[in-house]
Amino acid sequence: MLTKRPRGTNDFLPEDTGKWQYVEALLRELCHEFGYEEIRTPIFEETELFLRGVGDTTDIVQKEMYTFEDAGGRSVTLRPENTASAVRAYVENKLAARPQPTKLYYIGPMFRYERPQAGRFRQFHQFGVECFGAASPAADAEIIALAWEFYQRLGLKGLELNINSVGCPECRPAYRQALQDFLRPNLDKLCDSCRERFEKNPLRILDCKNPECQRYLAGAPTTLDALCDDCRKHFAAVCRYLDAINIPYKINTRLVRGLDYYTNTAFEILLDDIGAQSAVCGGGRYNRLVEELGGKPTPGVGFALGMERVFNALAAQQIELPAERGVDVFVAALDNGAAAEAFRLATELRRRGIAAAQDVMGRSLKAQFKYADKFAAAYTLIVGGEELSRGTVQLRDMAAGEQREIPLAEAVAYLAAKFA
Ligand code: ATP
Ligand code: MG
Repeated sequence: MLTKRPRGTNDFLPEDTGKWQYVEALLRELCHEFGYEEIRTPIFEETELFLRGVGDTTDIVQKEMYTFEDAGGRSVTLRPENTASAVRAYVENKLAARPQPTKLYYIGPMFRYERPQAGRFRQFHQFGVECFGAASPAADAEIIALAWEFYQRLGLKGLELNINSVGCPECRPAYRQALQDFLRPNLDKLCDSCRERFEKNPLRILDCKNPECQRYLAGAPTTLDALCDDCRKHFAAVCRYLDAINIPYKINTRLVRGLDYYTNTAFEILLDDIGAQSAVCGGGRYNRLVEELGGKPTPGVGFALGMERVFNALAAQQIELPAERGVDVFVAALDNGAAAEAFRLATELRRRGIAAAQDVMGRSLKAQFKYADKFAAAYTLIVGGEELSRGTVQLRDMAAGEQREIPLAEAVAYLAAKFA
């Protein structure tokens, strides 16, 4: 057990973390371009926050939370998602008092007790954005544009944006009723979870993956048919904004978020070639969530995307991310007598912002050269021997295979001009 990580978790090794850093840097750059700023909330919160914020009829709350009692007897939960925490932080830190909207993003680990399988882990990572305080359809379109742009910049193909509207507290009750009336004659033929959802959360029946249930949904009324005037206008405007920036979308009337605080837009981005798990991004508007969690009524819209699924998709489509850069210089010591001077020189280079690798294993010069290959250094400095007494070093340009003797200070200045 000591040498085995928990089921459903990953170790990301240096060959992986370079890619993660690249993708994270891209996300941060995009957020900067779109005017979103980072928020970092605790990895655990009081359990109550997720019961209320995620909803007690969801899979997450019913089966997937890592909940435990801490030594003080409080029930706490490792965050299964970040929206509830972002809302809490928005209310607790009175962000509504700042110029609105508040546009936030997060990247970090989430925890769900699920059956591990391809693309599904118990500790996984999400990037997401939340925009509080803007009710306009432009805010919905803006976050969709951000998510879409991200996948485009990575060069992923085969993306499909699905979009729908689930209405609002004005128009949803009548729709709920109409859907229940439609399904009631076949209620006993629906799957167990759908029968359970029928009273509490009937909209969720629409996205049940069970083919039997889908059969009884044929011809069911859609949320779009039932939208009130405001919701219809909102949805049309979101579509218009997407048209204006040439983002293709499919209206999918089966795409829903079942809980009361979700309003208007629901969307998902699907990828067709990463196996069973095709949803790579999900989001929508939640105009009632801030209120549900104790804040003033505040519109909100956001999405979350799964980072591991991004890497799966990149691998499946054989997309290579730009290579990591190697170190700038490898500093080799000719012999033990030169080790201290090589060490001093490597440190001086680093103090000037030059990435300098060195041996710390007491290797022979030959072994140091072999070791240096691993760093893909552009230059090698060889310190020691007569050169040292002359105040010079050997500077080797690795690509050109050329080596020359130059004064130490000149070597440092030369490398600083190139790399610092
Ligand atoms: P699914 O239907 O696949 O369970 P979900 O509705 O639970 O997805 P969300 O809560 O909307 O997913 O999370 C947004 C994104 O986070 C998903 O689209 C997916 O990319 C990713 N994600 C969710 N759960 C996991 C997990 N256990 N492992 C890896 N990625 C996940
Ligand atoms: Mg899930």
